[in-house]
Amino acid sequence: MSALPSFADLENSSEFHARHIGPDATDEALMLSAIGAASREALIDAIVPTSIKRAARMELPEAVTEAQALAELKAIASRNQLLKSFIGQGYYGTLTPGVILRNILENPAWYTAYTPYQAEISQGRMEALVNFQTMVCDLTGLAIANASMLDEATAAAEAMTLAARVGKSKSQVFFVADDVLPQTLEVIRTRAEPLGITVQVGAAEDAGKTECFGALVQYPGVNGLIRSLQPIADAVHGQSGLLVVAADLLALTLIKAPGEQGADIAVGTTQRFGMPMGAGGPHAAYMACRDEFKRSLPGRLVGVSVDSHGKPAYRLSLQTREQHIRREKATSNICTAQVLPAVVASMYAVYHGPQGLKRIAQRVAGYTAVLAKGLKGLGLTLAHEAAFDTLHVRTGAHTAPIMAAAVAAGMNLRRASDDSLSLSLDETTTRADLQALLTVFAEGRAVPDAFEGTTAVAALIPADLVRTSSFMTHPVFNRHHSETEMLRYLRQLSDKDLALDRTMIPLGSCTMKLNATSEMIPITWPEFAQVHPFAPQSQLQGYAQLDQQLTAWLCQATGYAGVSLQPNAGSQGEYAGLLIIKAWHESRGEAHRKICLIPESAHGTNPASAQMVGMQVVVTKCDKEGNIDLADLKAKCEQHSANLAAIMITYPSTYGVFDTHVKEICALVHEHGGRVYVDGANMNALVGVAAPGQFGGDVSHLNLHKTFCIPHGGGGPGVGPVCVVEDLVPFLPAHRSAGLGEKTAIGAVSAAPLGNAAVLPISWMYIRMMGEAGLKAATETAILSANYVAARLAGHYDIHFSGNIDGLKGGGVAHECILDLRPLKDTSGISAEDVAKRLIDYGFHAPTLSFPVAGTLMVEPTESESKFELDRFIAAMIQIREEIRKVEAGSWPKEDNPLVNAPHTAESLLKTEWTHGYSRDEAAYPVAALRQVKYWSPVGRVDNVYGDRNLVCSCPPVSDYQ
Ligand SMILES: *Cc1c(COP(=O)(O)O)cnc(C)c1O
Repeated sequence: MSALPSFADLENSSEFHARHIGPDATDEALMLSAIGAASREALIDAIVPTSIKRAARMELPEAVTEAQALAELKAIASRNQLLKSFIGQGYYGTLTPGVILRNILENPAWYTAYTPYQAEISQGRMEALVNFQTMVCDLTGLAIANASMLDEATAAAEAMTLAARVGKSKSQVFFVADDVLPQTLEVIRTRAEPLGITVQVGAAEDAGKTECFGALVQYPGVNGLIRSLQPIADAVHGQSGLLVVAADLLALTLIKAPGEQGADIAVGTTQRFGMPMGAGGPHAAYMACRDEFKRSLPGRLVGVSVDSHGKPAYRLSLQTREQHIRREKATSNICTAQVLPAVVASMYAVYHGPQGLKRIAQRVAGYTAVLAKGLKGLGLTLAHEAAFDTLHVRTGAHTAPIMAAAVAAGMNLRRASDDSLSLSLDETTTRADLQALLTVFAEGRAVPDAFEGTTAVAALIPADLVRTSSFMTHPVFNRHHSETEMLRYLRQLSDKDLALDRTMIPLGSCTMKLNATSEMIPITWPEFAQVHPFAPQSQLQGYAQLDQQLTAWLCQATGYAGVSLQPNAGSQGEYAGLLIIKAWHESRGEAHRKICLIPESAHGTNPASAQMVGMQVVVTKCDKEGNIDLADLKAKCEQHSANLAAIMITYPSTYGVFDTHVKEICALVHEHGGRVYVDGANMNALVGVAAPGQFGGDVSHLNLHKTFCIPHGGGGPGVGPVCVVEDLVPFLPAHRSAGLGEKTAIGAVSAAPLGNAAVLPISWMYIRMMGEAGLKAATETAILSANYVAARLAGHYDIHFSGNIDGLKGGGVAHECILDLRPLKDTSGISAEDVAKRLIDYGFHAPTLSFPVAGTLMVEPTESESKFELDRFIAAMIQIREEIRKVEAGSWPKEDNPLVNAPHTAESLLKTEWTHGYSRDEAAYPVAALRQVKYWSPVGRVDNVYGDRNLVCSCPPVSDYQ
């Protein structure tokens, strides 16, 4: 008789790490034997250099189960107070339609998708993004809009640099109206300083009175004033400057569009289109501009092209991966944007339609008029008459008592000055709210019913600024207003796409691992979602605790002393980290140190970030193993010794190898007075095993949307915490508009103090449920899985840049491996892109294509994929190699075979006439399992050139641009 399992044993079966990590003990043994390693420990010992191994374990709380972690986080969340917010200032209450909440925000088909670089398998989300772009163009009255910016403040800062690039003025002055959102001004100041731009603040009416290359005004202003833009535009244009307008999209349904009043660029947030406030993010910001600036527009633009059958198909156009191509000449470093929130906002517009949006806006504007009348009835004075949703009330000495009474009544108002308050209404405001507000302002006096005898009331919009033009006339905005139609539209779009809910996405450098459901659940809890970022700190204690715990855990994982969670993408973390290094040099009187060394293998955001902080990029070479060329590095360190600011390295390198010289490299740069920036995108190969803060790094960013399980969302949101060693902690980003930050601190880099705060619970849950041992096992399994793929494919493809470790089949790689397809191009004409597209027929999302080396595929399986899925991928790759052999042998012509014709649509295979030299079966079902589960590409190969002749899709080497 077998022994009963012990309770300890039974309790272990609810451990989360066994759910997160794909391979089990049996799989692991088989994988190790395929590699030729005796044990996981032996494999890690052979691959990770001893010199960088952690001396001590990460100190993290003991792992708990999913249920326990949720309960613990709920207790933290409940320390946030849910007051009704009338603060405004860029963040408003909104009602997320249930059909959008459940079918987009809480639906893995949308949130686990990757950035749409592979156009054919991303048609659904690109359609949603084209809707977003159309909505923004229509509402702003401008010709072209991109598919999301990180937040309104960074969008305004990007608009400033866009104006500097495309404008005709030689002025260095950017004018900012004194009633823009304070956080926007703060982020603009941070951005302007290293670029030598002077920010001049003044009354909006004074814009263009003196020379400037651009001016920014808020429409309506932070205190609600709506002013005519045309005179401002004329004045700014008179100085050869460009006018940037930060505009509220809901207001634009009722007030004249910026584009109809001479504006050149419009920016803003789409938060109030269905995305909860979430303590500041994630939300999609937008940017729109005149047509003539489209080639300089930062961020991503989805375009319409055609597929191989001549049918329209979407693809990313123009600036796709711009920073990878132009690198230090890139116009911005934006990589990950805010795709999921942009999809939510676009669908909010699709669901409500132009009429629905207008009605929402009319109610807000009508209630605002009722409130204005009520306040005046109480004898209060309003600072201005023209308003949409925000009133500025002169409260004199009563300011503080009224604020306090409002809080006591469960409402937050905004202190506009020492003697005035402002309050903003939104979609969620009710008649009862207005009565409660008036009661607070009455300070004990009786308040008549504000709606008494009123059935309708005119908004406070000046007659000459009433919008008369139509918007969102396209059928997509007028067809999906019933929930059934909406539900099916969303399903139809997501069915076109391949996300993690259907297949592994083996993207090197991008770490597409499990986004566990329990990690996702807390983000829509009201205690996290319905919180205003500028509510009093005392009401945000839950977020404060989340910040403090997550920060402490990330310090453990990285070996650093301090972390800021403010940057809302990896690229923003790089930017913040380099600003910190710059501030440190300046604090020592060494402002002249401006040289930033960057190896040629670096991710494109590295040089782009360096140029944004005013550093000068010097590219260093890599040897043929993919390691930094030490001799070249030494020479450049010596040459630039007096001016060396920093080196930016990625570790393990972007080639997926653990460079054994990393400690030497760090020491060398330190000797020459520079600081070491370690790009943390590859932390999935390090957590629990080695820590950049311990092997010589001074600053790193992490990608919580890679290593720490925040889903990619189809291209954002992300979180890019910046992590620093002890002496740099005083320089971590401030957020002065929220009253945070030391004197030495660099300025705010994001609109909200905690950046994309509302997705932080995901990483908290992950670490809490994995614990030290689970995280270390995840890292080791990620390395094991990559080596397994390398070992199994080694006989079929060249593995580029392996460690050449004796006895390991596949040679030994880190957590990803590069398959070199260039030799096959010579023998068969088949390119890496053909293989990537053929994988779609096999039901896979391609690995990273042509980065960091052109003509290669970089595979990163991650720890979350089971051996079953790895084997399915390996079988596909081997079968594809067989197909290439047929082309090599001449049995299939080079110009007509299943690879160059991939992906195959169902329609193309069902045609009566079939003229190809391979069968329909060979096209659709190259492996038998596909007969059970088949993904059909909705379009044929998308034309990369059509309509966009200058586009380059892969990452060329830095040497091309030197
Ligand atoms: C992903 C990545 C980045 C940029 O991160 P984003 O969040 O997309 O801005 C930077 N460096 C490397 C090596 C990366 O893989």
